[in-house]
Formats: sequence, C-alpha cells, structure tokens
Amino acid sequence: MSIELSGLGKTYQPDEWVLHDVSARIASGEFFAIVGPSGCGKSTLLRMIAGLTPITAGNLKINGRVVTDLPPKERQLTMVFQSYALFPFLSVQANVAFGLKARKFPPAEIDQRVTRAIQLVDLTAFRDRKPRDLSGGQRQRVALARAIASEAKLCLMDEPLSNLDAQLRVKMRTELRRLQQQLGLTVIYVTHDQVEAMTMADHIMVLHDHQVQQIGTPLDLYHHPANTFVGSFFGAPRMNLLPARVSEATELTLAQTLKVALPRPLPVADYTVGIRPNAITVLPAGTGAPCATVQTVEYLGAQTLLETQLPDGTALELIGVAPADYRPGDRVAVQLTGTLYVFDAQGRARMTLEGGVVHGNDAQTVSVADQS
Ligand code: ADP
Ligand code: MG
Repeated sequence: MSIELSGLGKTYQPDEWVLHDVSARIASGEFFAIVGPSGCGKSTLLRMIAGLTPITAGNLKINGRVVTDLPPKERQLTMVFQSYALFPFLSVQANVAFGLKARKFPPAEIDQRVTRAIQLVDLTAFRDRKPRDLSGGQRQRVALARAIASEAKLCLMDEPLSNLDAQLRVKMRTELRRLQQQLGLTVIYVTHDQVEAMTMADHIMVLHDHQVQQIGTPLDLYHHPANTFVGSFFGAPRMNLLPARVSEATELTLAQTLKVALPRPLPVADYTVGIRPNAITVLPAGTGAPCATVQTVEYLGAQTLLETQLPDGTALELIGVAPADYRPGDRVAVQLTGTLYVFDAQGRARMTLEGGVVHGNDAQTVSVADQS
C-alpha cells in the first residue's frame, strides 16, 4: 500500500489553516511516523488519510488511486487509537471478531483470523477475558489484534502507546515494529514523542506551525536538520541554540564570546548556531578557552548535565566530564569540538561545520572526526 499526499490542507473554520500544503510519499511496507508537538495537526492529518475528516485542499492517493473523497470503508485501512476503543462487555475474542462479523465474513474464516491475530499479539491465554480484566498493555494488544484481523495492509495509529507506562512503552515499540515487519504492513504512526519516532520509523515527517518542517530518515533528521525546530526537536539532551553574528565574511561570533572561522564566507547578518551538548568538550577553567558559569547540575548516572551561562547571559547546556564534581557557580572552559549548525535569521539551515575550536579571540577551525 503506497500513499501519496499532495498539497493537503485543512481548515475547520474558514481561512484558518490547521494544516497547509502537506505533501509526502509513503512507500509500501514502510513504517512512517508523523511527529510534532501537541496541537500541530497530527491527528487531523491521520483522520484525513483515514477518511474520518474531510480534506479541504489537495489530494490523497492510496495505491495510485485518488481516494480524496471516498468514505473510510473504501480505503482498505484500519486504525488504532490511543484510547483502544474496546467494547467493555465483550471478551477479547469478541472484540477482535466484531468488525469481521459486521462485515459478514463466514464464521469459519472469522474464527481462523481471530485466532491467528490473538496469537500474534500473544493474548491466547486471555481470549475469554473482558477488557477490565486486562492491563493497559494487554488492552492495546487487543486493539492491535483487531487491526491485524482485518487484514488491511495499511494501518494508521494515533499515539497508540501514550497511555502505557514508560517501561511497557519501550517493550511495545519493539513488538509493534516486529509485527509490522512480519505482516508487511504499511504503518502511518502519529506520536508527539521524538524518541518513539526515532526508534521505530523508516521515515519521519516533522509537523509544526501548520506545515511540514522536514521529511527524512531518523539519522537524516538528527544529522542534517533543515531548521532550528527540527534541530532542537530530536536528540536528548537538546541542541543548544545560540545567537550568532557574522561581522566579517568568514568570522562567526557566538553569544558575543566564541569565535569560529568559517570555511567559506556567509553574508554579514545575524544567525542562530545549533550545537548539541555532545559536540562541546568541557575543560577545567584556566586553559585559555572561553568560560561558562555552572547554574544547575543534573546527575543522570552515566552523564552529568550542566546548565551553564556564557558571559553574555546565553544559556548553554553541557555534558560534564565523568568523575568531576560540579557545583553551581563553578566556571568551566568550553571547546566546540563537534558539529555546528548555522541557521539563518529565519531558522533555516545554511551551513554545517564539522568542528570549530576557539581560544579567546584567535579564531581557528579544527577538523574532527565526522560524527555521522
Ligand atoms: P495533534 O493531534 O497534533 O495534537 P490535532 O489534529 O488534534 O493536533 O489539532 C490540530 C488543531 O486543530 C488544533 O488547534 C485543534 O484545536 C484543531 N482542531 C482539531 N479538531 C478540531 C475540530 N473538530 N474542530 C475544530 N478545530 C479542531
Ligand atoms: Mg492528536
């Protein structure tokens, strides 16, 4: 099942575009995630693909056929919601069989499909239980079994794991991915969780501000963000975004302190520079490198996160060096040793630098190993 979105738009109120010009191609058998903050239109887009919400502009093709105005049942897809949507008074088996009965399949075929689907999600021992006697994870597996039993090759999922506790969510990610590959399903998966999207998807669409920000593989989005939004959305700890200025064609100054020599000129203007905490090396103060002042210290076990401030007041998040004990007020020296992303005033990616190191005012560029 391949899907093609061409310039899809949606208004609920006249002239208020909730989604604008959304285009994408989703290949058969791929796990495609739609990710973005709450309220950015993810559910709206998924419901437009499902046929549950009318499409205001553009068109939608499934397997090469225009389905923009077709009702849901003619789109040959199935949907799994966050809320499971199970019938409380029906057993697991009856819940899974419900849609097939409604579609008047022969009883023997229903039985065969339901048995297999329940087996695939590992609920055979629970087939006679009611939803109230199941855990959250088991309920979500019933919803999955229902989707599997329909044998639709396209499955749309709207935050299906967000009601589960953290540990179960991690386990279900792997299970879902395994089932999707085993059954050769095309999955369009909506989530607000960047880690879920990164770990499960073949391709990710990032939605924000009513528009598509970028579409790419998880590694593409991480290593080549198209703009500041995508840069800071993926990766934890988050990418630092620093105010920057080019005052001479090849000299870039970050937060009025850190100077970087550009390998080729950029127009004299204001920029924003993105640096992930793991692209900055923290050194003891007094090495001649510019210093930042520690504000807060967060111990995460393997890592120590330092929230620091540069002399001009710009916040900078750093990863501390293992055994050192940091306290608020400490000064640490910083060296930019990894990738720097230069974004223009509109936040669009303009240049990527593979490691610039700066001491005081003597700008220099040092190449480091490519991190990709
Ligand atoms: P997400 O799933 O990303 O959180 P939604 O698609 O639910 O976002 O909502 C996107 C925007 O559309 C929000 O501003 C929301 O208030 C609005 N919206 C969603 N559904 C409706 C509706 N039925 N009528 C009017 N506005 C809606
Ligand atoms: Mg939603």
